[in-house]
Amino acid sequence: MNTATENTWVEPETSDAAKAARIERETHKLEKRLCRQMGQAISDFNLIEEGDRIMVCMSGGKDSYGMLDILLKMKARAPVDFELVAVNLDQKQPGFPEHILPAYLKELGVAFHIETQDTYSIVKDKIPEGKTMCSLCSRLRRGILYRVARELKCNKLALGHHRDDMLQTFFLNMFFGGKLKGMPPKLVSDNGEFMVIRPLAYVAETDLIRWAEHRQFPIIPCTLCGSQENLQRLQVGNMLREWQKKHPGRIENMFAALQNVVPSHLMDAKLHGFKDLKITGIESDEGDKAFDEESFSEPGLPGIQVIKM
Ligand code: SF4
Repeated sequence: MNTATENTWVEPETSDAAKAARIERETHKLEKRLCRQMGQAISDFNLIEEGDRIMVCMSGGKDSYGMLDILLKMKARAPVDFELVAVNLDQKQPGFPEHILPAYLKELGVAFHIETQDTYSIVKDKIPEGKTMCSLCSRLRRGILYRVARELKCNKLALGHHRDDMLQTFFLNMFFGGKLKGMPPKLVSDNGEFMVIRPLAYVAETDLIRWAEHRQFPIIPCTLCGSQENLQRLQVGNMLREWQKKHPGRIENMFAALQNVVPSHLMDAKLHGFKDLKITGIESDEGDKAFDEESFSEPGLPGIQVIKM
């Protein structure tokens, strides 16, 4: 409510100027957060080192645009010298707007390469109508991108997966694969030749959506191949969003858990020597409390703390 008296003027919050100032403040905060989170991931996992030549994989979606954008900001202020080469694979999907990415990357002044390979026809030819094309398509894409990385003399491949992709993968592996396995910020490629890095590991998808809107990235739709979106991933994504809506802070807590693993409290005998466990005679907070039920702090607080009984 406007509480201005006759002698004081309080600018209504809804005025255009106030709104513009608020948006500017929020955008500035968002940019700082994106840079801080990427910087933190780079430092925590040693993602980028002196002399790296990094192939930045660009799909034309909001995540890869955001990744390149923030990586360029990091490069400008980084204490180490490294190179970025943006690469897009044009798979010749019908309607793929092939001019968009080259025009954008040229204007940005970044080194780039567009690789054109008609994997779409191969996949269409090999996979019967109605069956999912993704596994063959991504296998072909992987092989091509490795070759391109080799030709461009890159030692690292940067992918635009973010925090929410990583959590989704974790639950997909648990629900459908029977494994506690996620999507790591850094891993050697399956052919052993490259380091695959995910500099957006700490970044929330909602922030990338906001950043893409602010930067007006020329997004290329990802449904051109006509393949159904992965239904299981879609369901897990919806489940996580629903949880977060009902219990704010849950995603942050689950993500923190991925970085806070306690093998002695799981059941993988390969990770913990259950068979050779010996009584120590020493008190430990990490020891079994046998008869006490565990209780937890309020949801939404960072980290999960066991309240001692
Ligand atoms: S969604 Fe389309 S482009 Fe993506 S992996 Fe599946 S078939 Fe390939």
